[in-house]
Amino acid sequence: MNNQSYEQIISSIDTRKPAPENEPFRQYYFIERARRRLAEISERAGRPLTFNVVTFGCQMNARDSEKLRGILEEIGYRKVETEDADLVLYNTCTVRENANTRVYGRLGKLHSYKKKNPHMMIGLCGCMMQEDHVVTKLKESYRFVNLIFGTHNIYKAAELISEALDHPDRMIIDIRQSSDRMMEQLPVDRKYPFKSGVNIMYGCNNFCSYCIVPYVRGREKSREPIEIIQEIEGLVADGVREVMLLGQNVNSYGKTLENPVSFARLLEQVVQIDGLDRVRFMTSHPKDLSDELIEVMAKYPKICRHLHLPLQSGSTKILKDMNRRYTKESYLALVDRIRAAIPDISLTTDIIVGYPGETEDDFLETLDVVEKVRYDSAFTFIYSRRSGTPAASMEDQVPEDVVKDRFDRLLALVQKTGREQTSRFTGQDKDVLVEQVNEQDESLVTGRMDNNIVVHFPGDGSLIGKIVTVHLDECHGFYYMGHRIETV
Ligand code: SAM
Ligand code: SF4
Repeated sequence: MNNQSYEQIISSIDTRKPAPENEPFRQYYFIERARRRLAEISERAGRPLTFNVVTFGCQMNARDSEKLRGILEEIGYRKVETEDADLVLYNTCTVRENANTRVYGRLGKLHSYKKKNPHMMIGLCGCMMQEDHVVTKLKESYRFVNLIFGTHNIYKAAELISEALDHPDRMIIDIRQSSDRMMEQLPVDRKYPFKSGVNIMYGCNNFCSYCIVPYVRGREKSREPIEIIQEIEGLVADGVREVMLLGQNVNSYGKTLENPVSFARLLEQVVQIDGLDRVRFMTSHPKDLSDELIEVMAKYPKICRHLHLPLQSGSTKILKDMNRRYTKESYLALVDRIRAAIPDISLTTDIIVGYPGETEDDFLETLDVVEKVRYDSAFTFIYSRRSGTPAASMEDQVPEDVVKDRFDRLLALVQKTGREQTSRFTGQDKDVLVEQVNEQDESLVTGRMDNNIVVHFPGDGSLIGKIVTVHLDECHGFYYMGHRIETV
């Protein structure tokens, strides 16, 4: 965001007049209104008021939380790392049942803080709030929650927080089933000054049979390339060197735009941006990964040598039931094409164990793909039954003990092949973007190679945000210990 023009707009707002209808000006109005209200409350309290946004789930939620933090800071809240704050906002996930369970569990603790702090407000937003049964349960058993909103009106956070500040005794609930609005042109508080996520699209149209995302995030919507490029140019001017383009299936980017643009063509525009050193993206659905994209990845070194390519299952029968629309053979052929064009690429994946109807033979197919592809790492999940999805009503759910046994076997194989695969860079010199001082040992810094593998090496805080060349001395499973050669 251009700070100057934003400040000019904010200073001209008259909160005695009615709120404007057009966005984002309406939200600027409510930021200013909430700011004044918070200043009054803070004066009465005799101290600044604090906030904490807690993120559950994926990169999309992490990016939404940066936007929520930006708004709260603009309103005048001070950021703290503890949940004993004056406003605690949980940005929730509902991909698996245990994400929901964790939220309910933590609400009890928040309630005990609230009983001791008359200024405290509790807000819940994100994917879990899009489920009717969740909101019903909160209304019935968690009356101490002040604010509930979903994924489609997160752009309205300033307006809803302003309302909650005006009415601290009410439970304010605002859930929509869809929206044309995207949360852009609002303040953002980035976790890292030197790297940032950039939403290129929202929602999902794929309806994998096990997955709740299309129901809680809505239909796929792509942003115009020009908006994305301008946002990245602004980020680069603000010190960002690496961006991660975010979407549930980036490979179908641009199909629904008035002037359709492929993801590969978007990437080609992004890599032209001066001052930007690295481009990542997440997530690629194997069914839509084009040869055009592989070509573009191979051509431009700015595009990171990492591809997250969720497999879910190695059994063609289960993949069909999952509505993934690729087969074991086509997945393996795709991996071969990628490796032929980009030999040093790191591949990572997501795998679900225990999908309804999964037999031992189906599971062995999954192990076979893991053996053949040799992923650098993999997220492994136990299938979680999500109400409202087609898989939830299937009768042949796999018994828990069978799932547990398969999960352990898969994890052991993924760790073994991951370790072997990751160690292939030992003895090489690689560029590393330094992210932070090592949390366990202050004499070390921690960064990532472009293939996303973590490296620790001697250094200090002055290196944070820099890309330096590091000799990879030793591989310890999924990370390296190294030493620095020179600054790039
Ligand atoms: N859109 C991305 C894709 O298709 O790869 C991923 C989105 S989802 C948030 C991340 C991962 O969660 C999926 O790849 C899948 O492995 C896992 N997942 C989704 N629904 C699940 C379920 N019901 N049970 C277990 N894992 C699930
Ligand atoms: Fe879920 Fe499939 Fe969409 Fe990924 S592509 S978000 S797994 S429905």
